[in-house]
Amino acid sequence: MLRCKDIPERASAYVERDLGRRERAMFRLHLMLCSHCRRFMRQFRTLLGAFGRKRPPALAEAHVERIVKALREQQREE
Ligand SMILES: [Zn+2]
Repeated sequence: MLRCKDIPERASAYVERDLGRRERAMFRLHLMLCSHCRRFMRQFRTLLGAFGRKRPPALAEAHVERIVKALREQQREE
């Protein structure tokens, strides 16, 4: 079973469909059970979408890290 801290680590792979079948299923299961992470994914997708699809992979990596960091800090404040 995935824990909340595993979600940000796998979020980008999930969105890019880089997760294996089993991991993907576990990811989805966690989202079904956890409103906290559902909200995280919603924000994550929104922010990721804001950068558009045509981005160099290296740049995307940096963006994803920033997004994850920003969202984590936001979660801590609540
Ligand atoms: Zn969670």
